[in-house]
Order: sequence, then C-alpha cells, then structure tokens
Amino acid sequence: MLSSKQEALKNYLMHRLGFRSDDYSESYIEQLAKIARIYYRLAAIPEYELDKDKQLPYYSELKTYNADGYPIGTGYYVPNYFGVVDVLLLEYKFKKNISFQIITKKSEYLSATDLANYTFCPVNYSISKSYVQIENSLARQGSYFHDRKFLDIKDIKLFEDKLSREVDESERKVPEYLTSLNKTFFDDLATSELIYSGHTDEEERKYFINESKRFVGQPDYVFKNKHEQYFVVEEKSKVSKEGSRNIFADSHRVQLAAYIHYLKEWNIQYGYLVNWHYERDSNGYIHLESCYVLKIDRERKIEEFLDKLIFKINDFERSKNLSVDINKLNPKKCASCVQMMVCGHKTRRYNEVTLPYGTSYFKLFYAPYPEILKKPDSAEPPHMPQV
Ligand code: SF4
Repeated sequence: MLSSKQEALKNYLMHRLGFRSDDYSESYIEQLAKIARIYYRLAAIPEYELDKDKQLPYYSELKTYNADGYPIGTGYYVPNYFGVVDVLLLEYKFKKNISFQIITKKSEYLSATDLANYTFCPVNYSISKSYVQIENSLARQGSYFHDRKFLDIKDIKLFEDKLSREVDESERKVPEYLTSLNKTFFDDLATSELIYSGHTDEEERKYFINESKRFVGQPDYVFKNKHEQYFVVEEKSKVSKEGSRNIFADSHRVQLAAYIHYLKEWNIQYGYLVNWHYERDSNGYIHLESCYVLKIDRERKIEEFLDKLIFKINDFERSKNLSVDINKLNPKKCASCVQMMVCGHKTRRYNEVTLPYGTSYFKLFYAPYPEILKKPDSAEPPHMPQV
C-alpha cells in the first residue's frame, strides 16, 4: 500500500515517462507492482559504498548460489524493499541520462534468441539489437544474476533422473517433479546418448551456423535416441510465482523449432522444451516445484513458418523501419518484458519502430510536479532522484 506521497510520485513518474491516465496504464502499473521486486538487483551497491550507519537496517547482502544450491555472499548489498516507485525512478534516471549502452559489435547471423525476441515483440528485437541488456552492465559490476543460477540447477536436475537409473531400480529415488506428463521425456532421456551439451566449458563458444538461413545457434543439448534419431532439448527456468501463466511461451517454441529445423550438423527429428519451475524458501534455498515438458516434432509447416519469420526480420533489417500496432500492446506483457526499462513503445506513444532503436523513444514528457511533494520555500523537488 503506497502512502499519498508515494502515490503522487508514482503518478508523476508515469506521466513523465509518457503514460497517459487510462485503463492500459492502470493495468501496466498493477502488473509492474507485482513484479517490481525482481529489479532489486539493479540497486546493488558494493560493500565499500554502503553507509553502514544509515543503510544497514534497510540493506542486506546479495547472495548467489553454489552448485549445491546453497546461498553464498557476493560483497554487494541490495535494498530489502524494492517497489514499483523504485522501478519507475530507475527507469526515469536511465532515460534522463540516456544511460543505455549501445551494442557496437553486430552479428551477420540471426540467432534462435533473435527469432524468439522478434516473435515476442518486434520492438523487443530492435532494442535487443541496439542496446546491451541492462542486467549485463550490473553483472559487470560484480553482481550475480538468477540466469546464471538457473544453469546450475538445470545442469544438475536434467541429469538427475538419468543418473539415478545407474543405481539399483529398488533404490532409485523418484524425483518429486516426475509426473505422468513428463515421464515420456525422462524415459527418452534415460535411454539416449548425449551427443552435444552447450553448457560444458569446451563447447561454451561453439556455435552452429546455417549459411543458407543466415542462422546461428547453440542448443542446450542434442541427444541420439535408441532408434538412432537425433533430438534437441532446450531448458527454461522461472520462479513459480513470477511472470505469466503461459508455461510454454511462443518465443521459446520458436527457439526450439529453429534448432530442430536449422541445425545442419544433425538430422534432428524432434525436440523438447523443458520448463523448470522453482520456489525459494525464506532462507533463500531453492526448491524445484515442477517440470513441464513440451514435445515438438519436425514438420514442414513449422519450417515454412520459420522461413517466413526470417523473411520478415530480414525485411526489417533492410528497411530499418517497421509499423507497430499500438492497439495490440498488452500492458501486462509489457510490464513483464525484459526490455521494459529501455522501451518507450509500451506507453503507446509511437506507431513505428526503427532499427537501431532510436534515442527519441527515451523522451521524457512534461508533467506538473505534485504539490504534495514540494517542500515549503524550496525551488527543488525534494523527492526527485539524484541524476
Ligand atoms: S515493453 Fe512491450 S512494447 Fe516494449 S519491447 Fe517489451 S513487449 Fe514490446
């Protein structure tokens, strides 16, 4: 529950960022408030910058996780509370200073992630091709991101069932996430041979290129089953209570389909999308809650869909301009989007997008500063961020 001053600041920042007072903006801010906490790492400060007298009760050390899932310190401190006003303030600061880092090195190929990004939203594609994702700049400051920890879990858990088959069947522990729905996948995995794993150090920099499609990809795993058929496995992870209810996002399906159809090294017949959902307990320990698996077969119509998608992206790359149907924007999707902090289109102010993503989209709009936030006899607004 926001105080009246926080409410005023929230509304002021929304208008400065370009949102209008309407149902769309209401829905956006409602969703952003639910997930605001996921941005708390962006406020991380190193221990030597921490003012222990003032900040310690409100800041805690940021933890990361070792391969066994145990939390360990990072030397960085994060605020215990990080709400919707904090997220809006961050975005305001980023936009005012245009402090987004431009990508200078461009690839001549399209990756599976590019196809997924364009499918998710063409604006997302433009931003991802123009600016380094904000989280990466934080990572360079020494903070740790959950993507990295996801990999730790993934690597362990994906093979847990397979490894457990090597002990006596009677001793075999059935993982809690194993259900009748995902059993076929684990059975397939257990009787198959691992051909390629994108997570090993030696394979880390290995990418597969399909010149005719201008495609480059690095799948998580490729297996050969007992019938000598190749299949690919792509893993995703998320905290169960975060994000949308859509278990298998279209963008992830496209990514998997691209591996099935465009990897030329193997004649891949099908693929699995594996979604791990986990929870953290009050001590920060990670517990796997469930595992959802989707199988996609090699199909001509899917390949045609991918070819059309590549054609559209190539067209955008050539014309550098694309129209955006602002009536189709989904406020909840925008609030949860990884490019939310950079994107100006979520305000529904622009009906076309350029490539690269133009700085004009970072424009701040006029809004009167709320009376309630003004200090008597002070020309400077006291609650504005230090920019
Ligand atoms: S915030 Fe919305 S409009 Fe912007 S890139 Fe994300 S989904 Fe697209």
